[in-house]
Amino acid sequence: MSHRNVQELMKKHAISIKKKYGQNFLLDKNILMKIVNTASIDEETLVIEIGPGLGSLTEYLVAQAKHVLAYEIDTQLIPVLQESFQNQRVTLIHDDILKRNIDDDINELNETFSKVIVVANLPYYITTAILMKCLEESQRIDTMIVMMQYEVARRITATRQTKDYNALSVAIQYRAKTTLAFKVPRSVFLPPPNVDSAVVVLDYYQTPPVPIANEAYFFQFIKACFRQRRKTILNNLSLALEMDKEHLREHLIECKIQPEQRAETLSLEDFSRLANYFFQLNEVNR
Ligand code: SAM
Repeated sequence: MSHRNVQELMKKHAISIKKKYGQNFLLDKNILMKIVNTASIDEETLVIEIGPGLGSLTEYLVAQAKHVLAYEIDTQLIPVLQESFQNQRVTLIHDDILKRNIDDDINELNETFSKVIVVANLPYYITTAILMKCLEESQRIDTMIVMMQYEVARRITATRQTKDYNALSVAIQYRAKTTLAFKVPRSVFLPPPNVDSAVVVLDYYQTPPVPIANEAYFFQFIKACFRQRRKTILNNLSLALEMDKEHLREHLIECKIQPEQRAETLSLEDFSRLANYFFQLNEVNR
């Protein structure tokens, strides 16, 4: 398999790098292969690529998957991709991923797949938006193998009692089991980004790992618990729930949470128990 020469392609097609689209093209063949190997793609797999760029990763994905569905926003890259992947099992959608209904796009392919995997070197300016979109809206995706800023990778794979554990960690870990697969230095990109990167694996849960009475309430509730990191659960929640501290203290103890605990000490199970309790309390008092 030929390794695409990104610089040559850019010159040939007079491509200029668009920072506003988070373009950092991957140059390193070993890293590309490592990403693809992490994905365990087979001939029955549908791979969704977000931001194929000049097709460096796409080339490896096409070689292994049944079909590749790729979303690219940048108009100047479309002819390059069309020329490179014509007559292949590639469907290229020229649009903003955040505006698409991914499951509808998968259904339009009219094919059967044993699994659906997102494999992408993400545009970093919208990492969280893409993750939340894929996790919340799609019923079809099984796994995501995605490159992102190392800092974000640390957060979404963080366990409690660590400084990286925050509302995003809990929200994502409610949807998927997350693993930081490997770290990637900035030097392997063109242009090199200002931060190091990492590849993260997100394995979707088929059934939620904890029961949640109302998901919208749960997500808001976690944010409220972490609003001021240094503050106790009691302080953060009394503001968010507009409840006096004496009553709130009793409710927290009822839920087996010490009022002086900080959000970073709570597990997913703790958040689920608390959020369900206050959701029900809210319903009763309505
Ligand atoms: N996959 C290529 C690689 O690894 O060399 C390019 C990765 S680059 C970090 C991110 C890609 O996402 C760029 O090609 C960029 O144009 C594209 N992109 C940025 N925002 C997008 C969006 N909202 N929807 C779809 N693609 C987007």
